[in-house]
Amino acid sequence: MTIFQKILDGEIPAHVVYEDERVLAFRDIHPAAPVHVLIIPRKPLIDVRAAEEEDALLLGHMILVSREVARREGVLESGYRLVINNGTDAGQEVFHLHLHVMGGARLGGLAG
Ligand code: AMP
Repeated sequence: MTIFQKILDGEIPAHVVYEDERVLAFRDIHPAAPVHVLIIPRKPLIDVRAAEEEDALLLGHMILVSREVARREGVLESGYRLVINNGTDAGQEVFHLHLHVMGGARLGGLAG
């Protein structure tokens, strides 16, 4: 079981900023930007590669929820970056799909 599943199950705490019946959004424990929130589906998809066509609405919902997360975190006007890491070369560490929402400062280039 992944650490994010434990957060979904309420087994470990998280600073939740948004939730609905399909997704949960909480602050990243090691923020890479002044605002750094992770949006995860309640459905335990490993990454984008594991998604099926039937998950298209869920994936779209995650992206649209980022606007409400950004609004609540105070970066809707200033802007924010969305990132999904998929697999080894992307540096994915937690194998439960998550959308990074980062902002609150001028962010650097994409290459890590
Ligand atoms: P990734 O490299 O895309 O898999 O990102 C995983 C992210 O999860 C990292 O930014 C971690 O800091 C974050 N993370 C790991 N454990 C927790 C946790 N318990 N609560 C919040 N964020 C976490």
